Amino acid sequence: MKGMSERFVRLSVVALLGVVLLAVALLLVPRLGKSGQPEATFDEGAPLDVRNRYPAQCPVHATPLADDTVPVSYGLPDFAPVFAGDSYGRQMDLFPYAEVKYANGCVISDDSPWRAQVRYCSDCRDARSAYFADGQRQ
Ligand SMILES: [Zn+2]
Repeated sequence: MKGMSERFVRLSVVALLGVVLLAVALLLVPRLGKSGQPEATFDEGAPLDVRNRYPAQCPVHATPLADDTVPVSYGLPDFAPVFAGDSYGRQMDLFPYAEVKYANGCVISDDSPWRAQVRYCSDCRDARSAYFADGQRQ
C-alpha cells in the first residue's frame, strides 16, 4: 500500500507540473508572433517622427520630399542583392530617399514604435520599383 500511495503522489506532482506548464504556455502564446517577437499592429502607439532628419529635396532627383508614415524595421536590414555586383551602397546612389520603411536599429523594447513619420522622394520610389522589377526578370 505504501508503494501505491508514493506512486500516486509522484503522478500527482507530474500532473500538476504539466498543468502549470500548459497554463504558462497558454498565457505566453497569444503574446508572441511567429518570429517569437511581440505581435504588433500598425495601429498601436504614436509613430516615431524623424522628418527633421531629411533634406528639403532629393540630391539625386532634385524632387522636393513629401511626408509619409511607414513601417519601422528592427535588426539587420533584409537587403538582398538582385544583380551581380549589387550593393546597398549602389541602391543608395540610385534611390536614396525611397523610404518605404524606416530602419530603427537593433534594440527593441515594449514601447518601440512600429511606424515612423518620414519624408520621401516620389522619383526615388519609382526608381526603386523599376530597379526591383528589373531584378526579378533576371
Ligand atoms: Zn529621389
